[in-house]
Amino acid sequence: MSPEAGVEDPCIVPGCGAPAVRHLALAEARRAFSDLPEKGRRAPLCRDHYRAWKKATRTERALERLGR
Ligand SMILES: [Zn+2]
Repeated sequence: MSPEAGVEDPCIVPGCGAPAVRHLALAEARRAFSDLPEKGRRAPLCRDHYRAWKKATRTERALERLGR
C-alpha cells in the first residue's frame, strides 16, 4: 500500500474496478487498452492490468527499438 495515497483509484479498464497499483498516462495505457474511457489524463491500472499492459507494449517497444 502506498503511504501517501489517501484514496485508491479504481482501475480504469471498463468492467474491472480493482484498486490501482500504477498510474500511467492515458495515452500510454491506450496502447494496450484501446477502449479506455476518455477521462482525465491519467490511467490507474490494477496489478493484473498493469501486467497485461506491460506484456502488450513489450512487443511494440521492441519493434520500435528495431526500427531505429
Ligand atoms: Zn484492472
